[in-house]
Amino acid sequence: MSKTVKSDIEIAQNAVLKPIGSIAEQLGLEVKDWEPYGRYKAKVSANTLNKLTEKPDGNIILVTSINPTPAGEGKSTVTVGLGQALNKIGKKAVIALREPSLGPTMGLKGGAAGGGFAQVVPMEDINLHFTGDFHAITTAHNALAALLDNHIHQGNALNIDPRRIVWKRVLDLNDRALRHVVVGLGGHANGVPREDGFDITVASEIMAILCLAENIDDLKRRLSNMLIAYTYDRKPVFVRDLHVEGALTLLLKEAIHPNLVQTLENTPAFVHGGPFANIAHGCNSVLATKLGAKLGDYLITEAGFGADLGAEKFLDITTRAGHFTPSAVVIVATIRALKMHGGLTKDQLKHEDLNALKLGLDNLARHIDTIKSFGLPYIVAINHFIYDTEQEVTLVKDWCTAEKHPVALAKVWEQGGEGGKELAQLVVDTVEKNENHFKPLYDLNESIQEKIQTIVTQVYGGKNVEFSTKARKQLKTFKENGWDELPVCVAKTQYSLSDNPKLIGRPKDFTIHVRELKVSLGAGFIVVMTGNVLTMPGLPKHPAALDMDVDQEGRVLGLF
Ligand code: ADP
Repeated sequence: MSKTVKSDIEIAQNAVLKPIGSIAEQLGLEVKDWEPYGRYKAKVSANTLNKLTEKPDGNIILVTSINPTPAGEGKSTVTVGLGQALNKIGKKAVIALREPSLGPTMGLKGGAAGGGFAQVVPMEDINLHFTGDFHAITTAHNALAALLDNHIHQGNALNIDPRRIVWKRVLDLNDRALRHVVVGLGGHANGVPREDGFDITVASEIMAILCLAENIDDLKRRLSNMLIAYTYDRKPVFVRDLHVEGALTLLLKEAIHPNLVQTLENTPAFVHGGPFANIAHGCNSVLATKLGAKLGDYLITEAGFGADLGAEKFLDITTRAGHFTPSAVVIVATIRALKMHGGLTKDQLKHEDLNALKLGLDNLARHIDTIKSFGLPYIVAINHFIYDTEQEVTLVKDWCTAEKHPVALAKVWEQGGEGGKELAQLVVDTVEKNENHFKPLYDLNESIQEKIQTIVTQVYGGKNVEFSTKARKQLKTFKENGWDELPVCVAKTQYSLSDNPKLIGRPKDFTIHVRELKVSLGAGFIVVMTGNVLTMPGLPKHPAALDMDVDQEGRVLGLF
């Protein structure tokens, strides 16, 4: 019990880390394959994959969850804990996670490196500037914006219509004041005035590209294909027309290499790339996943938010880009979050409530159906909180057993790998004993409308899709340009299966409202903006930043 009162940061600061070289060695890497970034971080060369082509892939396990609630689900915690537990039962496990964004770190979440005794470390570095990847991505993104504005200022040889520029600027912070800005003010010497805006870096197409590229050539090819504007006569303009794909690739030449760190129990973990799952595709880099799968028997990766967002995108977008097949999916649920889906408020969660829990299981059932429709074996993991009562845990377990859903209780937050052995063994058994019929949900040659309709009915459990006039016009333009054979990346609230964050549980017969579309030709998908979802979040009333500090010794306080 005394362990459980410690905060994430206190536990992380007491960890005994191994030098990163010994973690690299544990993975079988040669010294020339990796470069240290200080004592406990390294970049592993993406080219390492070239010499591993003959080696069969280990099992790729995707961790996803029910719809998140303010009660927290602990996907990263379970991902890390499962990796640690697999090692404890004698498997060679590697973990792959996204890099945290400073937006939610300073805003709501205060960190995203797992929790309790299932964390990746050094968590302060991972949560703050880490190895500089996000800065490189932000810089590459904004360099393109500056080069585009300069092109117009210098005579606009490409005939770009400043009102039809589709390339915004980015910043890795939540800053609502930058959503809409005017640039180029101050007279002739200061550029051409136009309306612009900022997105958060994790929504940048360059972030998505970095996470989907298979090597540096693929990165450059994807960057050159990005759509940035239209001309006065409505012709698309691409990065290659500006001839700057070389410069952008150069800015990303270190960021493309996966970052290696370790867990509290010295399990190797790649932490690389970090698109949000509500407004982008939500998975760590394909390079990190593939490298981990080559180097371990099991690669555990997490896709953001619920299975309706991160997992759907991992299975429909990332697996196609990376040409791999996952072996199984772990669906994380907590008693607390299920009770919230059953109608309780956050302050009612510490008390047993079997009725609310029973009602909330509907949300879990929807996500199980989703994973089943992809043809994949799955396991339900109950992420145990110390307030959960025995009756509550039994209720969820009994429901799973009656419905024939494999289920395990995970106590990794309290106990680290030791508390995840039951889950680890079930994952191994499920992978070994079940057939895998994995297939993405839709074919790429279906129309954009059909693909969205399939996701809405088969993943969200909704009925209809309604397109705004703007979205309809865009569908027409995309089709005329031959851009409709791409997967779709739906931007939607994470809190509900619908596009209305207030509809928790398992809403039915709802309509999804498509506000606008954006084609990401470099990333290779169409972003579908639904409801009121925003690509530049704001800060809450009490941002996590208000509780952060650093002392004279450089010790970090308030990252939790
Ligand atoms: P997600 O990946 O779903 O966003 P995280 O794993 O990052 O969730 O966890 C969010 C927060 O919840 C972290 O601060 C973590 O310490 C806490 N948390 C996760 N699981 C538990 C648990 N079983 N008991 C108590 N706190 C937990």
